Amino acid sequence: MCMAHEIACSCGKKHASFHMKDSVLPYEVISNLYCPECSPTLAHDAETMVRDNGWVIEYDMDVARLLSSQMKRTSEDVTPAFLFDEGWCTWNGFEPQDIFNSVKERQALMEKAKTDPKGYIDAVRTWSIDREERLRREGWRKAALAAEPAGN
Ligand SMILES: [Zn+2]
Repeated sequence: MCMAHEIACSCGKKHASFHMKDSVLPYEVISNLYCPECSPTLAHDAETMVRDNGWVIEYDMDVARLLSSQMKRTSEDVTPAFLFDEGWCTWNGFEPQDIFNSVKERQALMEKAKTDPKGYIDAVRTWSIDREERLRREGWRKAALAAEPAGN
């Protein structure tokens, strides 16, 4: 089972929705979250933080390492990039506000469904492909990872 959870950033202006693969990690593994407005003054610590397009997630690595065996890794293998890129504690979607944004975009498409059901199906298909491409161009880490060949 996977669970989603919403967390406020340190300045409180923004929220991000998180996804924890298989619910292995508790939400307490996120010790801090910084949006593009509250991250610039932050001293980056690669031992505990991962960056994505101006956002920074700071992890409680002690909590994460305690659960390393459940992620089928040794505690030395558990890094912030591993937690994020392998989905153990990452955005719910391609970017922090993906679920809120995609719901809005889908609602706009739903208007089309009322008048043109067939056009709607094509529009949804094009939308999801175009959207991933756009997020990749914007520089989101997960959209870039999704574009890489498997096993890379
Ligand atoms: Zn903030």
